[in-house]
Amino acid sequence: MMTKNNTAKILIFIIILSLSVSAFMVFSQSYKQNNPSQIKSQFDRQTKMKILIVPGHEPNAGGADEFKKIKERDLNLQLSLLLKKDLTLNSNLDVILARDENGWNTDLEKYVKTSSTTIMSWVADMKEKMMNKVDAGEIKLIDPNIKHNNAASNAVLFLYGTNKWIEKNNIDLVLHVHFNNNPKINGKPNYSGYCMYIPEHQYSNYSSSKIFADYLSDEISKIQKPSNMPQEKDTIIEDQALIATGNYDTLKIPSVVVEYAYIYEPMMLASTTRNKFIETAASSTATAINTYTKKEFEQ
Ligand SMILES: [Zn+2]
Repeated sequence: MMTKNNTAKILIFIIILSLSVSAFMVFSQSYKQNNPSQIKSQFDRQTKMKILIVPGHEPNAGGADEFKKIKERDLNLQLSLLLKKDLTLNSNLDVILARDENGWNTDLEKYVKTSSTTIMSWVADMKEKMMNKVDAGEIKLIDPNIKHNNAASNAVLFLYGTNKWIEKNNIDLVLHVHFNNNPKINGKPNYSGYCMYIPEHQYSNYSSSKIFADYLSDEISKIQKPSNMPQEKDTIIEDQALIATGNYDTLKIPSVVVEYAYIYEPMMLASTTRNKFIETAASSTATAINTYTKKEFEQ
């Protein structure tokens, strides 16, 4: 039988135990609130990362790059659709395509068509801000190594419109999918290999884009040689003027343009080897994105 004395001891023990448990709970709660990294990881677990894949050029125009009837814009779309499929296995990702086999992403198209004035005045404003910094000596204008073909005015509107739409929709990451076809010396194809374009280092999204590009390059370099065109010798090339990577600081998030191959490379000419290359390129890119999201967003 339990004595009165023992019952009192047990009661006191229980009271002390429950007090320490509640003290610990209060402490750990305030620790969580004061520890930003823990808050970030809690937040990240509840939120999917949004990636926008932009198959280069427009659904029915642009991407004048064409070789023996193979249109660059079709190859870009083929690779992007496979990439989206590969990425559906990654439950941390929300994958959005800027266009698919039916044409533009309907939300993006609607936004660009109804907001062209807003978009272009935003661009003018961003350009003015940058030029003021250039005048004040805070930013240096860089002469591009490579002159890109000037995009037609509708393409320009869609590219800037995409940047604005990205901001509006809280997209976290952008990948532009392209094939190279430039230049041909004396009308002959001359080059081969992949390269990437990222924002020039004075832009706010330079570092984050460089990190993303390094992950991509680690995988793509396993299936394709770097470009042998002298102007692309860096493989990951900084560019101040490309709209896709956010010229005039029109993008705050990582953005990378990948040129997977020259469209006149031998493996691109026959459909079997071309399809095989595109499939491999898509799965390498998916591997790179999976590694990137795992390491950069789940730490
Ligand atoms: Zn292109």
